[in-house]
Amino acid sequence: MLPCRPIRALLTLRMIRAVCVAALVGMVCVLAVVTDGAAQRRSHTVRRGDTIASIARRYGVTQRELRAHNRIRGNAIVVGRSLSIPSARGRRDMHQVGRGDTLTKIARRYGVTTKALARANRLRGSNVRLGQRLRIPGRTRENPVRRPRRPVPHPLTDEQRADAERRTRQLVIGSRFTAQRLLRLPARESWIEAAREAPRRLNDDGLVEGDTGEMGTLGLPVNRGRYMRGWGSGPGGYHLALDVAGGRGVDIRASERGIVVYSGHEISGYGNFVLIAHPNGLVTAYAHNEQNFVISGQYVTRGQVIATLGDSGLARGPHLHYIVVHQGEHCDSVPMLRPFIERRGGEVVEAVRARWRTRQPEAVRCLPRSARPHPRHGRRRR
Ligand SMILES: [Zn+2]
Repeated sequence: MLPCRPIRALLTLRMIRAVCVAALVGMVCVLAVVTDGAAQRRSHTVRRGDTIASIARRYGVTQRELRAHNRIRGNAIVVGRSLSIPSARGRRDMHQVGRGDTLTKIARRYGVTTKALARANRLRGSNVRLGQRLRIPGRTRENPVRRPRRPVPHPLTDEQRADAERRTRQLVIGSRFTAQRLLRLPARESWIEAAREAPRRLNDDGLVEGDTGEMGTLGLPVNRGRYMRGWGSGPGGYHLALDVAGGRGVDIRASERGIVVYSGHEISGYGNFVLIAHPNGLVTAYAHNEQNFVISGQYVTRGQVIATLGDSGLARGPHLHYIVVHQGEHCDSVPMLRPFIERRGGEVVEAVRARWRTRQPEAVRCLPRSARPHPRHGRRRR
């Protein structure tokens, strides 16, 4: 029995070593599987103290994405639950570098400059590596998203342009003073008279053919736009306009025929801004545009594309800030728009309908801008 003892010990040692090697190999294998999986699908096991916000922040995704990805409603998450983390791919403000991607290609794809992209990611030079996550700039005013400019849908002929310029001089319109005046005071009679000269309907040679709408109502400024907030919303009810959400670059249409009295970007906060005077004395204004297609003095017909939707000026996200002014007072446009409005949640609401031909309809409320000062800008802002 005695000689057996060392052998047994040796065996045991060998066995332990074998087990160890196997275990080591196994661990490496397990690690490989885990990392491989992590590259495609990330998950997070909820710990005490975790919140949707803290997890979202940790993985660089939005709370909304995290909720949608895991079908979570509200903020309730159970400790121990495994949450799947959405990948950066498919997100508009993040890009995961794929095969063949270069900084220039990525920049072009998102319509930003290479410089802005490099700066947003603190890159030195233009090298990117496969799988790298890049933040796409463009949500800030310092890095405006550069989209290719769209050609003007109905370009003016030289003659039409000369006419528009002549009217601008004769009627003394087109300056920021015109815009500021119209946001406070009644339109000049000569401007309303000029608006009456605007064609009701135009053909291929100039503008849009089709329904000219019912007189006294307004055409929707954005097709399939969503109602975001209305007249009298916000602190103190300062927002005397209608906000319509829509995709960046979507068409903005004139609500009624008339004459463009201002097209520019000199009114603080409004970005690219267009003002149109109409035959019944109403004035419609379109703010935060991405691109204006019209010039002052130009006639436009109802439904004509005058600009594209954007977020220029002080705008949180792309939307149209739509103002209807009558005698210097800012009016609730919803009752005059047809046939219904769609809220952002998808709910479709039929508005109280009102037609404005001569006397102001009861359903349409109007207030001077100064009656509801902006909470931050005070009375400075018109
Ligand atoms: Zn607004």
